[in-house]
Amino acid sequence: MLSLKNIKKSYITGDFKQVALDGVSLNFRESEFVAILGPSGSGKTTCLNVIGGLDKYDSGDLIINGKSTKEFKDSEWDAYRNNSIGFIFQSYNLIGHLSILDNVEMGMTLSGISSTEKHKKALEALERVGLKDHVHKRPNQLSGGQMQRVAIARALANDPDIILADEPTGALDTKTSIQIMELIKDIAKDKLVIMVTHNPELARDYADRIVEFRDGNIISDSNPLEEEKSNSAYSLKKTSMSFVTALKLSGMNIRTKKWRTLLTAFASSIGIIGIALILSLSNGFDKQIDIFESDTLSGFPIMITQKAAEVDINQMMEQSKEMRKEVLGEDTEDESKYPDTNVIYPYNSQENTFMHTNKLTDEYVKYIEDIDGSLLSGISFTRLVNMNLLKSDGSVATPINASDLNLSSYPINLDNSSEGYLETSYELLAGDYPETMNDLVLVVDEYNKIDTAVLDALGIDSNKDEINFNDIIGYEIRAILNNDYYTKVGNYFTLAGNPTDMSEIYNNERAIPLKITGILRVKKDVTIPVLSAGIAYSDELSQYFIEDAKSSEVVKAQESAVYNVFTGESFDKESDRMNSANSNTKENVLASIGATSTPYMITLYPKDFTTKEAVTDYLDNWNAGKEKDDVVIYNDMASTFVSLSGGIMDAITMVLIAFAAISLIVSLIMVGIITYISVLERTKEIGVLRALGARKKDITRVFNAETFIVGSCSGILGILIAYLLTFPTNSILYKITDLKGVAVLNPVHAIILVIISVCLTMIGGSIPAKMASKKDPVEALRTE
Ligand code: ADP
Ligand code: MG
Repeated sequence: MLSLKNIKKSYITGDFKQVALDGVSLNFRESEFVAILGPSGSGKTTCLNVIGGLDKYDSGDLIINGKSTKEFKDSEWDAYRNNSIGFIFQSYNLIGHLSILDNVEMGMTLSGISSTEKHKKALEALERVGLKDHVHKRPNQLSGGQMQRVAIARALANDPDIILADEPTGALDTKTSIQIMELIKDIAKDKLVIMVTHNPELARDYADRIVEFRDGNIISDSNPLEEEKSNSAYSLKKTSMSFVTALKLSGMNIRTKKWRTLLTAFASSIGIIGIALILSLSNGFDKQIDIFESDTLSGFPIMITQKAAEVDINQMMEQSKEMRKEVLGEDTEDESKYPDTNVIYPYNSQENTFMHTNKLTDEYVKYIEDIDGSLLSGISFTRLVNMNLLKSDGSVATPINASDLNLSSYPINLDNSSEGYLETSYELLAGDYPETMNDLVLVVDEYNKIDTAVLDALGIDSNKDEINFNDIIGYEIRAILNNDYYTKVGNYFTLAGNPTDMSEIYNNERAIPLKITGILRVKKDVTIPVLSAGIAYSDELSQYFIEDAKSSEVVKAQESAVYNVFTGESFDKESDRMNSANSNTKENVLASIGATSTPYMITLYPKDFTTKEAVTDYLDNWNAGKEKDDVVIYNDMASTFVSLSGGIMDAITMVLIAFAAISLIVSLIMVGIITYISVLERTKEIGVLRALGARKKDITRVFNAETFIVGSCSGILGILIAYLLTFPTNSILYKITDLKGVAVLNPVHAIILVIISVCLTMIGGSIPAKMASKKDPVEALRTE
C-alpha cells in the first residue's frame, strides 16, 4: 500500500550538503509493525518525515495506494497527513494549553468531523490507551508514559492507515516503554506501524520486520516486500480549520498567559482610550455648543436697526486667527508688530468700519411681515411712538412720563401653532400672557425686582418692601388719542387739560384702557433677556395709535410747520444733527407724536439655528441685486460667535486626535512584536498542527485569531476605561466650568473604535502570522 522508490533527500547548510537519504526504496504491507534501526544521523527521522508528508523528498517517488505523490499540491499533502497518517513523537508534542480531550480531537477538528462524532472517537481512543479517567486534565498534569499514551490516542483517533512513531519510548523508563510497546504492537494488528528506535531489543521483541539504516541507506531488511500490488481507489478528505476552531485554540493559549494578554491589551488600548476620550469630549462640547446655540444664541435675535455698523469681515477673520493661535499656542509673532523704526504710522480707524443707513421702508416692513411665520418664535418692531398715557388714583388722573416705564414692545408670534418667544423665554409669574392689543405686561428682573420709577410712574405705591402680584394684575392705565390729548392754543399745541388733574380726558369714552394682565420674568436659561424690566406693550397698540395720530390735528400742524409746534423752537440744523432719536428734528418730533410708522428697530427671534439660517437667507434675498445704499444690513452676533468657537474646538480636537493616533500606531507595533513572540513560543504547536494536517492558511488563522482576541480585548477594555474616565472628567469639568455631562461617549464611536482596534492589531499581527504559516513543520517540531 505504501512504497518508497529511490527516495533521495539532502540538506544544504551553507556550502555543506548533508545527504540524509541516499536512494531509499522500501515497500510496506497494509498491516505490519516495522522497526527502523540505525545509528544517530543515519536518516531514520528524515525517512519517517518523508513518509508522513512532513518533509519533501528531493527525487524518487512515494507511492500511496498506487498513486504517485510527485505532483502533490500542498493541500493534498495536508489532507494526506490528516487522513492517513498518525504521528507519535519522542517528545509527545502535545499542545500544552489544550485539555487531553482537545488534544486528541484536534486532528478530527481539522478535518471537520462533527463534534459529537469526534468526541466519541476521541473517548474510544483514550479508552484504548487506558486514559479514560484523565480526559479533562492538561498534559502537564500527566506522567511521561501517560503523555505518550495521549499522543498515541491522538494518532489513532482519526483512524489513519499508517502510524509513524519516532523513538516513542526514547524518553521513557523501561517499564513504561514496555507498556507503550505493547500498545503499539496491538495497534499494528490492523495498521501499518513504522517505528524508529535505537533500542534493538525492543525492536526484536515487538516488531514484525526490522529495517536497518546507515548513512541514508538501508543495509538490511528482515522481511522485505518485493512488489507493491495494491491499487485500491485513492481519495482523501481535504482539511480546513474553521475560524471558531482557531479562536478556541488561541483562546485556550491566551488563557495560559492571562496577565500578559491583559497587559498587552491594556497597553494597546491606551490609544483607543485617548481617542475615545477626545471624541467623547468634543462630542460633548459640540452638544454643549448646540444646547448653547439653541438655548442662548437662538434667543440672541437678529437685529435690524436704522443705523448699522458695516463690520469689516477681514478684520474679523484676523481676530479669529489670533484667537486660534493663542489657544493652540502657535507663534503669535507678527513681523510688523513692535517695529523698531523711529516713525509713527497714521491710519484711519474709520476706514474699515462704516455706518450704514438702513432704509426701513414700509415696503421692507411688509417684506419682513411676510416672512414664513414658522421660522420665528417672535418678531418685534420698535417704533418711535410717544403714547399719551394717563393714570388715575380713583379721583385724580395725571399724565404718565412714558420714559419712566421702560417701555418696550413685546415680540409677536407670527406662527400661532407654536409657542412664541415670550412663552419660551419668559415665565409667567401671575396673570396671563398678553392676548389683545390692550394687554400690558410687567417684566421683572431675575430677583422679581422692579424699579420704583416704573411703579411711581404707573401710580402704584412703591413705598413698600413687597407688593403682591394681585395688586398689579388688572391695574389699569389709559392711552389718550392725540386729538383728545393736545389742544391748539394760538399757533402752538399744549396739553388739553390741567396736568394736575386730567380726569375728564381719562374718563373720555375714546380713552383706550390698558391693563396689566401678566407679570413676566426671564427664564433661568435665557442669558440675554431682550425685554428690560418695565412695561411691555403690543406692537398692535403702537400701530393703532400711529394710525390715529397720522390724521390728528397736531400731526397735521407739525407736518406743515417749520418749527416745533409745542415749543416754537426752530429745528436743529442738518449739520448739528446726531444720529439719535432724541435730537430736535422735525422727523423726531413727528415720530414722537406718532406720525411715522417706520420702525426704529426690527428684532427677529428665530426658533433655532436651522430656522435662523432660513431667516438670514430671507433677509439676504431682499438685498440681492440691490444698490449698496439700498441694502439692509442686519446684525447677527450669534453666528460670529459660533463660527469662532466651533473652529477652535475643531482645531483642538484635530491636534489631540493626532496625538492619540500616534499612540495607536505605537500599540500597533507593540501588538506586532507580541504576536511575533507568540509565534516563537507556539512554534512547536505550529509543527504539531501541521503534522496533524493543518494547512498554512490554518496557521495564519490561528495567529489572526490570537490578534483578533487581543485586539477585541484592547478595544473593549479601552472603551470601558474611556467610559469610566468620563465620570471623573465630567466631575472635574463641572467643578471648573459648571458645565454638566460634557464628556459623552457616543455608542457609534465606541463600536467604530473597537473595530479599528481589532483591524489595527490584526494588521500588526499579520506579518508574524504569515511568518508562522511559512515555518517548515519539521523544523517547527524540532524546536524546544
Ligand atoms: P536520525 O533520525 O537517523 O538520527 P536524521 O534523519 O535526523 O537522522 O538526520 C539525517 C542527517 O540529515 C543527519 O546528518 C542530520 O544532521 C541531517 N539533517 C537532518 N535534518 C536536517 C536539517 N533540517 N538541516 C540540515 N541537516 C539536517
Ligand atoms: Mg532521529
